[in-house]
Amino acid sequence: MDAEFWLGRWREGRTHFHQPQVMPLLRKHWPALEVPPGARVLVPLCGKSLDMPWLASQGFQVLGVEISELAVEQFFAEHGLQPAMHDSDQGRHYAAGNIELICGDIFKLSAQTLAGCQGVYDRAALIALPADMRPAYVDHVYGHLPQGCKGLLITLDYPQDEMNGPPFSVPDEEIRALFSGRTSASLLERRDILKEEDKFLRAGVQRLDTAVYKLETGK
Ligand code: SAH
Repeated sequence: MDAEFWLGRWREGRTHFHQPQVMPLLRKHWPALEVPPGARVLVPLCGKSLDMPWLASQGFQVLGVEISELAVEQFFAEHGLQPAMHDSDQGRHYAAGNIELICGDIFKLSAQTLAGCQGVYDRAALIALPADMRPAYVDHVYGHLPQGCKGLLITLDYPQDEMNGPPFSVPDEEIRALFSGRTSASLLERRDILKEEDKFLRAGVQRLDTAVYKLETGK
């Protein structure tokens, strides 16, 4: 699952993960986190998610990171925004209002940038990565977020042998193993969504749950 795989997906318009509305589980669970108003919220592997303008509308400074330039350009074009741009070691930065997107590899995001984020929203990000990349992703991103950082993680859980990812199944045991360090994950909600997901039904998947975790970074 290298960059080329994702760049191809965006070129070909195979972006089923993109939702035409704000994620209901974000609206439902975000307020209770009590992330401080005005905080910088990291959205790793952000695509052109409408969850970013929603977070911005709640008064947060959104920082999305996305490897596909097409996704970033579509995001600003679709919202009628003309971003200011500059380049850094982390990639190309696009900023408009309280939304900044870095077009670059999440693994190049600096420790300093991560340390400036008091909130995080991980939807279809951890679960977009194959199993062998997930520990390095969690180490890099969650290892550098500051103490007191809070956020939501939304996963899928289904029999992996019944369908190939992405999105991958990341069951509860794996979440507990991945978030056993500075950042903890506690389950807020688990829902059976098989009936709502045609792609999984067509593939013959027998069970599909989505789970929402509260993330919190300690010392
Ligand atoms: N979170 C978004 C997109 C999920 S799909 C949403 O909910 O709609 C995963 C996204 O991660 C894709 O847009 C892909 O281009 C991007 N991506 C994959 N690997 C990446 C990496 N190493 N760094 C940054 N973005 C990456």
